[in-house]
Amino acid sequence: MNIILLGPPGAGKGTQAQHLIAARGLVQLSTGDMLREAIRSASPVGLRAKALMEAGALVPDEVVNELIAARLDAAPAGAGGGFIFDGYPRTEAQAVSLDALLAERGMKLDHVVELLVDEEALVDRITGRFSCAMCGEGYHDRYKLPKVAGRCDVCASAEFKRRPDDNEATVRTRMAEYRAKTAPILPYYEARGLVRRVDGMAPIAEVQRALDALLGEAG
Ligand code: ADP
Ligand code: AMP
Repeated sequence: MNIILLGPPGAGKGTQAQHLIAARGLVQLSTGDMLREAIRSASPVGLRAKALMEAGALVPDEVVNELIAARLDAAPAGAGGGFIFDGYPRTEAQAVSLDALLAERGMKLDHVVELLVDEEALVDRITGRFSCAMCGEGYHDRYKLPKVAGRCDVCASAEFKRRPDDNEATVRTRMAEYRAKTAPILPYYEARGLVRRVDGMAPIAEVQRALDALLGEAG
């Protein structure tokens, strides 16, 4: 099963991807994570993307298309039961490229899940976001604190980090980018009957249940 998780920054794509990985063994392909890794390793892609990401602007299509192509090749078709595309595609050119990349590899999309959220809540979600510095598990200052204060639920690390682009000014730019360039790709998938919608404003566990109901029983 290959799924796109679509929704503005802070909609809960990464949070729900973690659930889908655990419950269904799907493989997450997050271009944001790939770009942050490229910045950490100071690769040419990272050097190209850094200032754009800090400003909340999209990086060029060919950069992310190539990252996705490389990951699809690294994990052969059927690996882990399918892919979750998280934060990709973000433009119509990326959507067209993804179709070609999948077709070349004998794969196809099964669902495009749009997480419906209220934009005003997103600033609150994003400015409260943090993650484990060791394993990357995601948390929130109010909505998802570690069960034992100061210790990651997954790996027990005491080190956490926040993203440099998770500030209010950048979030507003990222939302504007979503509205202008990403939301317009929905009709591309609607025409093929692939779009499913989930209320992303519900508590995390409820969004999870809605997603499970929509995707059918795991396994
Ligand atoms: P995205 O990957 O779409 O940018 P995240 O999954 O990282 O968004 O979620 C953004 C923040 O909001 C995180 O801190 C996460 O813990 C929190 N969050 C995610 N889903 C919900 C929800 N349904 N209700 C409240 N907080 C949520
Ligand atoms: P995310 O982790 O999905 O919130 O993405 C963080 C930032 O990485 C975005 O604000 C963009 O600058 C960049 N980015 C991630 N994915 C893409 C993409 N598919 N296309 C263009 N830019 C992207």
